Amino acid sequence: MNALRSLRLLMLAVLALVPAVQAAQAAQAAQATATAQVVPTFAMEVRIDPASRLLQGEGTWTVPPGVALELTLDRRFRLESIIVDGRPRPLPPDGTAAAGTARHRVSIAATPTRSQSWQFRWRGELAPLDGGIDHRGVIGALPPMASIRGSYLPAGSAWYPEADVPATFRIQVTVPAGQHAVVPGRLLSESTEGKETRAAFDTPLPTEGLTLMAGPYRIDERMLALPGGRKVRLRTWFTEALQPLAQDYLAAAAGYIERYDREIGNYAFDGFSIVSSPLPTGFGLPGATYIGEAVLRLPFMRGQSLAHEVLHNWWGNGVRVDWRRGNWSEGLTTLMADHALRMAQSPEAGRQMRWGWLRDFAAVAPGTDTPLDRFTARTHGAASAVGYGKSAMLFHMVRAEIGEAAFNEALRDLWRSHAGQAAGWRDLQAAFEKRAGRPLAGLIAPMLSGTGAPMLVPQSIRHDATRGGLVVTFAEPVPYSYALPVAAWHGERAEPALLPVRRGERSAVLPLQDGRVPDALQVDPDFAAWRRLGPGESPPLLRDAMLAPDIRVLVASDGDDSWRLAAGELATRMLEAQRPPTARIADLDAAAPLLVIGRHEDIERLVRRDPRLARPAALARMPDATLWATRAANGAPRVLVSVEDTAALIDLHRRAPHYGAQGHVGFRNGRAIASGIGNIETPKVPVTP
Ligand SMILES: [Zn+2]
Repeated sequence: MNALRSLRLLMLAVLALVPAVQAAQAAQAAQATATAQVVPTFAMEVRIDPASRLLQGEGTWTVPPGVALELTLDRRFRLESIIVDGRPRPLPPDGTAAAGTARHRVSIAATPTRSQSWQFRWRGELAPLDGGIDHRGVIGALPPMASIRGSYLPAGSAWYPEADVPATFRIQVTVPAGQHAVVPGRLLSESTEGKETRAAFDTPLPTEGLTLMAGPYRIDERMLALPGGRKVRLRTWFTEALQPLAQDYLAAAAGYIERYDREIGNYAFDGFSIVSSPLPTGFGLPGATYIGEAVLRLPFMRGQSLAHEVLHNWWGNGVRVDWRRGNWSEGLTTLMADHALRMAQSPEAGRQMRWGWLRDFAAVAPGTDTPLDRFTARTHGAASAVGYGKSAMLFHMVRAEIGEAAFNEALRDLWRSHAGQAAGWRDLQAAFEKRAGRPLAGLIAPMLSGTGAPMLVPQSIRHDATRGGLVVTFAEPVPYSYALPVAAWHGERAEPALLPVRRGERSAVLPLQDGRVPDALQVDPDFAAWRRLGPGESPPLLRDAMLAPDIRVLVASDGDDSWRLAAGELATRMLEAQRPPTARIADLDAAAPLLVIGRHEDIERLVRRDPRLARPAALARMPDATLWATRAANGAPRVLVSVEDTAALIDLHRRAPHYGAQGHVGFRNGRAIASGIGNIETPKVPVTP
């Protein structure tokens, strides 16, 4: 109650600011008015009871002249009435949805001169929100769901008669008191009367569908002042247990919005809401983000992932993605948020992140990656290695090629020209080329349409005085034109240089500035180019085995039922493969990936038998539980789990699955005390005089 009362006081304070806000948002309103001519609008009132999961809705589509709409409504709802321009229209017979579709369909044909009004009434039961949905489930299409712990009605799930084009929305939503509902957009009003809480929102910028979230939220709020008198309402919609984190999240969000507003251009929304979710997920929405409760408690969320979600308000939800031509927004957001934050920590942290992109791609089976311009969403591992990692690397390469100033100005241009509209890769390329003053097709085109990655370990490096430098020859043609960073070694000292490689050519000439011939070259030791990792650059990671579909489990210690159960449970939690077959000691020489679980003394015995299995030096001081990745003589991945006792094994159940990206981790008293990856050594190729 107290929270609500102070909220009303805040609302009063906000109302006093309205004239300033209106003035500041005039430009935005003008934009919204300009688009209102051609963008359909849906105004609706919905009532949701999370306990019974009942939804009732009523709403009107205003369709501008010349616009046709295909509407769909999930068949869990009954369509109760359709009124077109004031006249009732027969409902589509239940059989109109062809067999196999789970949606009602209503087609609205374009009218040449006048706008149309289509009013709908619908009601039905939402799906139960199942807290057990795993991360992979969340990524796929979800139905609209409700529970008193939280309700989630995603855009695209047709929880209202949903259109197939961007639209603007106005919504009033009513939920039982104690619950609060939120949609991405501008908060117009909110009130609690008797047993009900009601809130109204609109979306001044066109958006592809509306997402509604509700839950037993405590609301915290802070107004952020941006240059030019602009105000942004920052809010957390957290469960009671999370509320102590609210102020930190509001402060972090304010910092990120200020930063990107300054770097890219004016923030396009009136507010930013951080909404907690019972689902284990993270979504960026226009002016909002929906994040799992467990994730919100993790320190990296506020420090890194929140920046990523905030930046999607520029890339993805501000400038929208032209879905027919590939999703560029994940890569650009990854570079400008995640990678920039790592670089702020240290250049080495940034280097490791870029290495991670290449390492992720190395885990993708050869020949199975799709071109970047066909990446549309995050669907599975291979897609994300391209859609996030390769895409981020392309932007990193473009920035290196044209310089930071031109890169940043190009993005500011793009924001000015495309905020509130869709953009495709071609628009980004044009923006970069304009600021660079030259074509970039030799770099961008092959990165977008090509698959795979080149191996850039030189086959030979010869000094050729007639060509004015070192002739570097690769095993295969380089697919793109780029100034490839190299380290030229003179004795113990490395000097940075740039090797200009040309698309389609196997050789390139590294000019020698002062005539001194280096002893050896390392190509791209900082992982600043899209390429395959060379020998020595790919130390084994735990997930190499964890993700292998043909993995087997070797329990190397005898024990009682509780030991065997604990070992089986660990395997189930760590491995992607369901019910992996068991292995025997003899399988240690076989080619299949293995997860080996045992007590310290038994694992030590295996190591004496095969020194390649030895624990990394970083784990030498024998913690309670250790995991490390290694490779058999035949290259097959091995993960060893070495524990003190059954209790230490049980303790790993919850923790071990999170360390797939590491090469080793050691726990003492239930805390990770050491984790990391092995040495990454870029091959040093000698120069032939
Ligand atoms: Zn993202």
